[in-house]
Amino acid sequence: MRLLMLGPPGSGKGTHGVRLADDYGVVHISSGDVLRAAIAGDTRLAGYVARGDLVPDDVLFKLLVPIMERAVAKTGGFIADGFPRTLAQAERAYREIGIDRHLKLDAVVSLDVPDDVLVRRMLDRAQQQGRADDTLEVIQHRLAVYCAETYPLIEYFRERGILLPVNGNQPPDDVYADIKEALDQRVTK
Ligand code: AMP
Repeated sequence: MRLLMLGPPGSGKGTHGVRLADDYGVVHISSGDVLRAAIAGDTRLAGYVARGDLVPDDVLFKLLVPIMERAVAKTGGFIADGFPRTLAQAERAYREIGIDRHLKLDAVVSLDVPDDVLVRRMLDRAQQQGRADDTLEVIQHRLAVYCAETYPLIEYFRERGILLPVNGNQPPDDVYADIKEALDQRVTK
């Protein structure tokens, strides 16, 4: 199973990505988790994440390519969560990692959640997890970055015929059931 999870911050990509990886026996790769782990001792990188800006592609690819390659070697697949996040990243992932070239994607799950719900979820998450970028100001910036940089990927993958739009504004088990149903229909088609 090779999947991309697409959606604004707080839409549930991580929650459902972990569950899908477990179900399909592939590796869940969250670019945000990879970057948060790499931040220690790197104040420049930490600055991008703290502000809610995208880190430069060279930094991202240097960290992610070996992880993606190991995942493919080990399990033949992956659930990529939070990556690619721009058209440029999608094109570079095609060239450098082979994503959707020789590593064909089964689907791109796109989670749709209204902005006011996203903000509420991330403010709740801030209380539970204390993520430094879950403050109102940074959340609003991350949503704006999503809208400008990542949203165009929805059309990009729709045109390639692999987009699975799912209503992410439901209880988590219902969202998951919808994702599985959409995937089952697609994979058995
Ligand atoms: P996330 O955990 O997916 O919400 O990502 C947290 C932060 O990590 C983002 O606000 C960005 O600063 C950075 N980040 C995650 N994925 C990417 C990516 N694909 N490209 C650039 N920056 C990223």
